[in-house]
Amino acid sequence: MTLESKTPGGPIEKKWQTHRFNLKLVNPANKRKYTVIVVGTGLAGASAAASLGELGYNVLTFSYHESPRRAHSIAAQGGINAPKNYANDGDSVYRLFYDTVKGGDYRAREANVYRLAEVSGSIIDQCVAQGVPFARDYSGYLDNRSFGGAQVSRTFYARGQTGQQLLLGAYSALSRQIQAGTVKFFQRREMLDVVLVDGQARGIVVRDLVTGAIETYAANGVVLATGGYGNLFYLSTMAKASNATAIWRAHKKGAAFGNPCFTQIHPTCIPQSGEYQSKLTLMSESLRNDGRIWVPKKKGDTRRPESIPEEERDYYLERIYPSFGNLVPRDVASRRAKEMCDNGFGVGPTGRAVYLDFADAINRLGKHVIEERYGNLFDMYHEISAEDPYKVPMRIYPAVHYTMGGLWVDYNLMSTIPGLFVVGEANFSDHGANRLGASALMQGLADGYFILPYTIGDYLATAKFPPAKAEDPSFKQAQGEVEAMVKKLISIQGKRTAEEFYKELGRIMWEYVGMGRNKEGLQKALTMIPRLREEFWQDLKVVGSANDLNAELEKAGRVADFLELGELVAHDALHREESCGGHFREEHQTEEGEAKRNDKEFSYVAAWEFAGVGKHPILNKEPLTFEYVKPSERSYK
Ligand SMILES: Cc1cc2nc3c(=O)[nH]c(=O)nc-3n(C[C@H](O)[C@H](O)[C@H](O)COP(=O)(O)OP(=O)(O)OC[C@H]3O[C@@H](n4cnc5c(N)ncnc54)[C@H](O)[C@@H]3O)c2cc1C
Repeated sequence: MTLESKTPGGPIEKKWQTHRFNLKLVNPANKRKYTVIVVGTGLAGASAAASLGELGYNVLTFSYHESPRRAHSIAAQGGINAPKNYANDGDSVYRLFYDTVKGGDYRAREANVYRLAEVSGSIIDQCVAQGVPFARDYSGYLDNRSFGGAQVSRTFYARGQTGQQLLLGAYSALSRQIQAGTVKFFQRREMLDVVLVDGQARGIVVRDLVTGAIETYAANGVVLATGGYGNLFYLSTMAKASNATAIWRAHKKGAAFGNPCFTQIHPTCIPQSGEYQSKLTLMSESLRNDGRIWVPKKKGDTRRPESIPEEERDYYLERIYPSFGNLVPRDVASRRAKEMCDNGFGVGPTGRAVYLDFADAINRLGKHVIEERYGNLFDMYHEISAEDPYKVPMRIYPAVHYTMGGLWVDYNLMSTIPGLFVVGEANFSDHGANRLGASALMQGLADGYFILPYTIGDYLATAKFPPAKAEDPSFKQAQGEVEAMVKKLISIQGKRTAEEFYKELGRIMWEYVGMGRNKEGLQKALTMIPRLREEFWQDLKVVGSANDLNAELEKAGRVADFLELGELVAHDALHREESCGGHFREEHQTEEGEAKRNDKEFSYVAAWEFAGVGKHPILNKEPLTFEYVKPSERSYK
């Protein structure tokens, strides 16, 4: 496999402009002759489909949800970055670029990150024009707050519901195109394979989740906007339905998988409270603007937080990182919280939590200000924990939250399969080894509104398209393979449910491939996962039929894919003999417990090629070079 990043030459500030000019265009009258499939209608997919429809392409969109409004994107709470410098605190495109490359621990492509920072301002303008109700200050300007890994305020927000408001904006743009007839929306369809004709992505196979019918659709290009795979770990902050099936099946058809082990653990989530739990809840990073994180100075201190005097509290992030304090990046905050709990300073019934305390902010600003900024998050916490965070500190603990890994894409967002584009969290993205807060929404919308609409045009204008129809042999073959897999899942009729296997896989992933990884644990995971997969295919029980609505069958297919992806993630984590960002190899840390990179040997994107189930995947490397932000020890002290 050859990896061609197609990164343009020239000075970084000019790369995107020059590249955009050099991209071939499709004549306006010809656009409707091209059909583009967009799978997924979260922020990345809805913005891409709406923009392509607006341009005049014939767009088919698919989602397993009944409405784009149900996508996981709706959960995003804290905000979206853009260097508008409204706060007049020294922000610039270059500073956002710099922070993001550094925040990602020097494992992202510089040119992509610069472009992301460059177009991010337009996203805010676009969303304001759509009517997204961003928070405003007293004079009417859009308000900003701060997120981790930055010393400026550049995060635009709509209370703690930013994703919901942005999605309503993208959804209205999409609905306009559906009404205009340029976009057709297929609801409750789960993509189960991509169809290749002469090596090009020319269509997809889907299952109608209501009737069970297996259908095929043909197009000139396919865009995957199917989100992240954090649910591989079973417990995560992601929507329960989020899964890896679309990208995993595309990977098996030849799309390289970039940096699969780069997983983000978010420091501020409501701690797990029992074995029955199937999901974790995020408390937005924005809370670290005003909340102070602490643990008791005494090990095993079981006093109520309000009974612990100030001098007996350890505000450890402020102590260790005086420059960034509570706003250190997520990977750093997560590791320190785990360390505190591992060393016996954790609080709450399980000892696996630290406090996030708003008492100072409430005294300083008044309860009404805190309520205005974070009211819905406080309500959510209250509902779940039965404690009032206006009165007692929140208890928080790290949880899986986001996957920086995903399908490898070049500068044009095209995967290693010609004609298969990947946008949003589904691609291996611009975040390197660690995503800074408020940058996923930025990336998804940058991809969908401002990058893909240009780059896919170049592909459509230059590629050759022999006729491809759903009746062709390639489509029939892909359809047959999907039907066979569905039949196999139903016919095993063993004793254990997909949920049981899934939970077991999640335990292995969290224990051995989770927040701290080491060689021994990863090797153990690599023997346990294939064994579990074998048991799955012998002892799975799926009730109900294939020709009907069947949530058990849906889950079984997704778990089957997770059981293969988990192994790839472990292989990737094992081969990367360094710590960087969210990938913490315990063998590679500084004396102070910080991640220790190995730039000499690992300054590359690991793009894995599928070699067969249970076979060692093939590693391809895209070297990373840093002309502008020179790699240095990432310090937030
Ligand atoms: C609780 C929470 C809070 C967050 N807060 C923030 C924040 O404040 N700021 C920020 O920048 N980021 C935040 N993030 C991250 C951000 O929300 C996501 O990264 C982003 O919304 C992903 O958007 P997406 O469009 O790529 O994918 P998604 O929103 O996950 O959309 C995926 C779409 O693909 C469809 N789909 C998936 N698979 C298939 C298939 N096989 N067939 C058919 N359809 C399929 C789904 O139906 C859905 O429409 C947060 C994440 C979480 C979990």
